[in-house]
Amino acid sequence: MPVVIDKDLCIECEECVNICPFGSLELGPSGLECSDTCTLCGICLDVCPSEALTLPDVPEEEIDLKDYKDVWIYGEQKRGSLHPVVLELIGVGRELARKRNCRLGVVSIGNRLDQVLATLKHYDVDDIFLIQHQQLKDYNSEIYANLLTDLIREKKPEIILSGATLRGRSLIPRVAVKVRTGLTADCTELDVDENTGNLLQTRPAFGGNIMATIECPNRRPQMATVRPRVMKTASPLPSPHKNQVVQNIDPLLSSLRSETEILDTVDSLKETEDLTEAGIIVAGGRGVGAPKGFRLLERFAKVIGGVIGASRAAVDAGWVPYSRQVGQTGRTVHPDIYFACGISGAVQHLVGMQSSKIIVAINKDKDAPIFNYADYGIVADMFEVIPELIKYAERRVKR
Ligand SMILES: Cc1cc2nc3c(=O)[nH]c(=O)nc-3n(C[C@H](O)[C@H](O)[C@H](O)COP(=O)(O)OP(=O)(O)OC[C@H]3O[C@@H](n4cnc5c(N)ncnc54)[C@H](O)[C@@H]3O)c2cc1C
Ligand code: SF4
Ligand code: SF4
Repeated sequence: MPVVIDKDLCIECEECVNICPFGSLELGPSGLECSDTCTLCGICLDVCPSEALTLPDVPEEEIDLKDYKDVWIYGEQKRGSLHPVVLELIGVGRELARKRNCRLGVVSIGNRLDQVLATLKHYDVDDIFLIQHQQLKDYNSEIYANLLTDLIREKKPEIILSGATLRGRSLIPRVAVKVRTGLTADCTELDVDENTGNLLQTRPAFGGNIMATIECPNRRPQMATVRPRVMKTASPLPSPHKNQVVQNIDPLLSSLRSETEILDTVDSLKETEDLTEAGIIVAGGRGVGAPKGFRLLERFAKVIGGVIGASRAAVDAGWVPYSRQVGQTGRTVHPDIYFACGISGAVQHLVGMQSSKIIVAINKDKDAPIFNYADYGIVADMFEVIPELIKYAERRVKR
């Protein structure tokens, strides 16, 4: 159902034609027309000077909440290995399933999932749904979203949890739109109302100043993502699960079609993942001065088991690749410890790292804004401090 055009109001300025990201609008001999490729995104409405465009009334689909049961976890895997966040979600998912007196399932999509299955055998999961096909070797958000949507429509789970990983963030919103339900991203706490089944999804809001608990009372399934390392990893069972039900799901051929062809997977993607999921980040800014300053930070990161991050100033200077940039136009990170070395603390940098559990700032300028956000501040030249920290860390490692 496309956007509605009031041809009496339209002055044929073509503003909407130029802005539509889907090329759905065209000005022809009989005026403006909109094709079925329109996704009702609403962008064109904002640019129309004569308010000639409106979204059609889409009747709200009635659903019976009682048709939906069970808790599912999206079993993200890469090259056959489960992402650690899945084991974290199994812990919280099991608790939700216990409260709702329902089953806990994991859905995994890929090519060869034997290793995924072998891992899940050791965890308290009731149902395992495996969607395997050679075409699913590489992650493709379009196809994976089609397949997960097909399964949700068939089995009707009440709750779906996924890691807020790079892939989770790309997949789960697509699925939520397809099944027309709500999604709460980056939850830090999950609980369930045992009577209504409403998922209580708690996450920081307004820049982390308040914690909001969000419910999705009228739609099912309820979908939430959780960042890696927020929840406790589930403990493995003392012996392999004996009653797990494993279902191999044949993908619909129509759902395997995609507009995207994966030609290659580039290494920098892995670097980015490392950054967003790292427990310790050693980030450098303009104060690092040169690429060789980053070699020093790399040594420090290596000895404490961290990875390198950077401010935009350091990236723009060409000292580190963009995949390392933290901030508004880079990555949002949430490590246990964030070392900000020679970084002033501009707001665009802060938005990407201020939810780190511990922030350690090293800066020559005692008035640098970063100190307002740091748990530990060292007013000093980083080239004096970092070598001392390396020596200290090396001594601790040797002990
Ligand atoms: C639309 C927009 C988006 C942006 N997105 C991002 C983003 O995603 N990420 C980002 O980081 N920035 C972003 N920026 C840029 C941001 O505004 C800042 O310019 C940038 O973060 C500054 O980087 P910096 O702190 O490394 O450099 P500076 O602000 O120049 O700070 C360098 C700091 O190093 C200290 N210093 C110097 N030498 C030493 C030394 N030897 N030892 C210790 N300290 C030392 C100085 O005292 C200073 O505080 C964005 C800007 C805009 C307009
Ligand atoms: S609603 Fe979105 S997709 Fe539809 S015509 Fe307008 S801009 Fe294009
Ligand atoms: S922006 Fe409005 S007035 Fe201009 S062509 Fe589109 S519908 Fe007509």
